[in-house]
Amino acid sequence: MAPDASTPTKILLDESEQPTRWYNILADLPTPPPPVLHPGTLQPVGPDDLAPLFPMELIMQEVSGERYIDIPGAVLDVYRLWRPSPLFRAHRLERALGTPARIYYKYEGVSPAGSHKPNTAVPQAYYNKQAGIRRLTTETGAGQWGTALAFACSQYGLDCEVWQVRASYDQKPYRKIMIETFGGVIHPSPSPLTEAGRAILAQHPDSTGSLGIAISEAVEVAAQHADTNYALGSVLNHVLLHQTVIGEEALLQLAKVGETPDVLVGCTGGGSNFGGLAFPFLREKLAGRMNPVIRAVEPASCPSLTRGVYAYDFGDTAGMTPLMKMHTLGHDFIPDPIHAGGLRYHGMSPLISHLVNEQMIEAVAKPQRECFAAGVQFARTEGIVPAPEPTHAIAAAIEEALRCKESGESKVILTALCGHGHLDLAAYDAYLSGRIEDHALPEEELRAALAALPPVPA
Ligand SMILES: *Cc1c(COP(=O)(O)O)cnc(C)c1O
Repeated sequence: MAPDASTPTKILLDESEQPTRWYNILADLPTPPPPVLHPGTLQPVGPDDLAPLFPMELIMQEVSGERYIDIPGAVLDVYRLWRPSPLFRAHRLERALGTPARIYYKYEGVSPAGSHKPNTAVPQAYYNKQAGIRRLTTETGAGQWGTALAFACSQYGLDCEVWQVRASYDQKPYRKIMIETFGGVIHPSPSPLTEAGRAILAQHPDSTGSLGIAISEAVEVAAQHADTNYALGSVLNHVLLHQTVIGEEALLQLAKVGETPDVLVGCTGGGSNFGGLAFPFLREKLAGRMNPVIRAVEPASCPSLTRGVYAYDFGDTAGMTPLMKMHTLGHDFIPDPIHAGGLRYHGMSPLISHLVNEQMIEAVAKPQRECFAAGVQFARTEGIVPAPEPTHAIAAAIEEALRCKESGESKVILTALCGHGHLDLAAYDAYLSGRIEDHALPEEELRAALAALPPVPA
């Protein structure tokens, strides 16, 4: 069946059709990804190593080989505030491009935080509550993850304490206000509340902070208090697992209109929205039921998948976390201050890295001006101002649609619009007034950062 312009604009699922299981791609991989290593012993980490920071349910999900994991009823209940999320056919964008391609986007901006992040914040808060934890700590850059976790904690009566990178804390007050409105407590990082923060402030009283420093502060407080755990918003297996509700819903929605994707594109910071959309489709591909090209899109100024190395590295700048084998630019790499704050991470999810290494998915990098141009075209046609991060995916979708225009192919393109940009309007202002530049990452800078990789025997 070849649907045409008669496909509905908005493809919805009833609550009764809501997926009730998360999909664990580890069960279907031909080869498993390399283990996470203890930074001291260089031996694989065990559940006990992670127990000071995470509840056992999440640790077991991190290493689970089960293909499906049931979503607890108390999590499904909260999901229903915004799930199932809509799938849109981008008729108006297609028309503006003059392409025979059919473009679909799964819209996660309808969540309480305005992004996909609550899909994992809610189960993380739930399992911590079940384990008797009273408070969660975390870091946040631009504030998307802090907002999602503050919301999730408010649903289960947990305290939420967030360390926000000082530069964003000062420049972007609206996320801070949202976090406080949801009942969270927010500190600019570096803060005088932790050893890690005090050490930085002693040397650099005017430090504008970094994600690495903020992680160190949040982890320190969680490790020191038995009633407090730490929560991470991307990168880890259990985070990508929770995000598979995006892809499972999209599969059902496309089936309703008789479509299967030929190309799937998504933006990658730590890999969670991309993995969440792609993994259920990759399961179908591995089973021979469809054959989409699956493509990750990253910023040209923070190109871990396309220019980094696949090696063991720390997850944080200070070098306190376990070692993960991933595509990395080096843990002390500091990317240019591009506006897609959620994509400024030196590493990549070990699962996504493994799949790229196995050539099961591909990766491209995009400069930010092309992305903002795509975001503006999307806003003017589809009526949604995208967050700067998913403009990378939109730029790649438009590129593919224009290739179809050349070749006359009517491919089906699927992407995740993982968040709206209502709190990123200053970035659009900068673009619209010509103040945004493309940063090329010099080869020397990359080499210097990669020289700092920890030595791990093969
Ligand atoms: C956090 C965030 C990202 C980057 O994280 P992933 O784990 O790669 O999805 C992308 N887009 C938005 C809107 C975000 O909030």
